[in-house]
Amino acid sequence: MLNIKCKIPEAWDAFDDLYWTVYQFDWFEKNGRLWAKKFFSDLNNPLINEMLKDAHLINPNDSRDSKFTEKYSKRFEQELYLPDEYIERVQRAELSLLAIEKCWYKVEELNKNWYFKICNEYFVIPHLYRAWSSYYFCDNGTGCVYLCNSEKRPEYLPHQTAVILHEILHLGIEELIVQKFNLCQEEKERLVDNLCMYVTDDNQDFKYAYKWSDCTTSPHQETTRDYAYMDALMGIQPETNLVKAVEKFVANRASN
Ligand SMILES: [Zn+2]
Repeated sequence: MLNIKCKIPEAWDAFDDLYWTVYQFDWFEKNGRLWAKKFFSDLNNPLINEMLKDAHLINPNDSRDSKFTEKYSKRFEQELYLPDEYIERVQRAELSLLAIEKCWYKVEELNKNWYFKICNEYFVIPHLYRAWSSYYFCDNGTGCVYLCNSEKRPEYLPHQTAVILHEILHLGIEELIVQKFNLCQEEKERLVDNLCMYVTDDNQDFKYAYKWSDCTTSPHQETTRDYAYMDALMGIQPETNLVKAVEKFVANRASN
């Protein structure tokens, strides 16, 4: 059974999320992910602009022990942390879970067939100051989905169901496949897309997610990778053992 809850982030968690976003900002810019820059310039928040300039104060090892935190955590709580803003967002996210629960039996099959990782529990946490959604393993192997939930990324908002499932699928293959075979960002995203298409069949709630890596609003649009080649090798059928399929894909890729 799917054990998943949506929750409002505590003030510290909301700050911590922004901390790592600011930390990654340079990486995104240098790697041509310009939508991150556009997001923050659309947000045009004076405090966040100040933070971006002070990114060098960040301690990349510990957000609790950092000059950046000393300077900004209190101000964040006073000026940017808006608990009421999250109430409706959490309710919307909760509604999204119904469609995921419906197709969860297929995820359980993946777990049975090739040990797709199902976490003991999942938390879905909307965030206001992030330009993309992502996934983390939190304490005790809990799976956390951080939802991009800003009106400045309106293309995300109607597709939360798809986004949440997408991140859950990431969690399921992260250690077992992505790290084991050292897949690059584009390969990993395409694999999750293919998996999502398989798990959801023709369910329209997930339509947007089918080929996230093709989608024009996707951060991955600048890739030149040959997806047809990947799709053919990773074509997912009920009998597919995805770990073995990716192993084969990686071996073929190396010899090409
Ligand atoms: Zn992804």
